[in-house]
Amino acid sequence: MLNQDLHVHLHGCLKAEDLWTIGKDNYKNQAQQLDWYADEFSKHCGYKPDYQNYWRSENGLSLLKKDFEMLESGNFSQFQAKFNLIIALCPLSFENFYVQEKIIRQQAASGLNLFEARTLIPFSFTSDQAYRYLKGLCQLVSNLNSELPMETRLVFSLFRQNHLALKHYLWIKDFLFHHPVYTNLISGIDFAYDEKGFPPSSKINLIQKIKQDNLKSKPLKILYHVGESFEDKGLLSATRWVFEAFLLGVDRLGHAIALGVDPENYQNIKVEEAHDEYFQTLKFLFNNRNLLFEYGFTADWQMLTEEKDFFSKNQSSKIISYTDNYKALCRDFQRVVGRILKEKRAIIECCPTSNKRLAQIKYPKFHPILFFAKNKISTVLGTDDPGVFCVTYESEYSYKKSLEELSFSFTA
Ligand SMILES: [Zn+2]
Repeated sequence: MLNQDLHVHLHGCLKAEDLWTIGKDNYKNQAQQLDWYADEFSKHCGYKPDYQNYWRSENGLSLLKKDFEMLESGNFSQFQAKFNLIIALCPLSFENFYVQEKIIRQQAASGLNLFEARTLIPFSFTSDQAYRYLKGLCQLVSNLNSELPMETRLVFSLFRQNHLALKHYLWIKDFLFHHPVYTNLISGIDFAYDEKGFPPSSKINLIQKIKQDNLKSKPLKILYHVGESFEDKGLLSATRWVFEAFLLGVDRLGHAIALGVDPENYQNIKVEEAHDEYFQTLKFLFNNRNLLFEYGFTADWQMLTEEKDFFSKNQSSKIISYTDNYKALCRDFQRVVGRILKEKRAIIECCPTSNKRLAQIKYPKFHPILFFAKNKISTVLGTDDPGVFCVTYESEYSYKKSLEELSFSFTA
């Protein structure tokens, strides 16, 4: 069996123990960043972490573990608040790649064959610093690829803001143009971080450009985190985002939880969805009516027409309740989009534990992996942030298998 981790964030591999060791001798120098971490944490997790005690107190490591590890369900902001400890303790440098080396060696020792790790160019870097960073990181990875039994490839996660994404993308292209030796090592780009406010439709021009460039030189794979966190919208709109990301022509969709999660999971939850978002979804359904119909969409068009008329005249937001009608509509749309994705050979990157915790999956039978398996949609496996979620490639592999088996038992 080939162990390939195809959705993993490089620094997300750091475990609580690693962070404790890294912070032990230099946490005082990082006070400003750690204060920021503590402030952000208190905003989203309900209390302020006493980070100095991580290294002063006798049970410091367990205090750090308690704050850092995400062992229960939570939202994306809580996850980010935990991840911020990594950002505070391990700021990316264009001169020192000690942490990256430590991570890659640990992953190789775990028996992985391919480690396609996502990293980023810090937004504060100038083009010169980014160039030195890319060069230093590629040299390290290239050396480790010759030495270790595991191959590491790099994917650069771009920020959601178009101007930053384009700037970093052009730096990466320029770097590769001058260092063609690294074209096999940098395998792609990715769109990551909080999705809120950044619909896939805002990426049409940028992705078009990348795809055109891809025709002229060794293509960079285009990966896209979507449908991972959708607390600001209902499942219908969140599924539309997954579909729209797919329509951009990306190579792999990251998570796409919204497409696969059973709407029943959100029973009793109410969401206030912005007027524009909901109206966009209604328009999308009408604009794609023939396609959806062709794939078996059985929605109540009369109801949708009334809804569209109402929201074309009113600017109010939509309160989404997971009523039987709304759940049925979501299921129908998920099924149709799933069919199209299967037929068009879309690939979804599944990170079973990350998905379970961030989508707050109540029962295994609601997990999106069941839907993907049942609908025969191609998936690949990733650990996402194994240090934060306390998982390994092996544990995620078994978990994914068990969910797929569960899907077959439901089918039978
Ligand atoms: Zn991810």
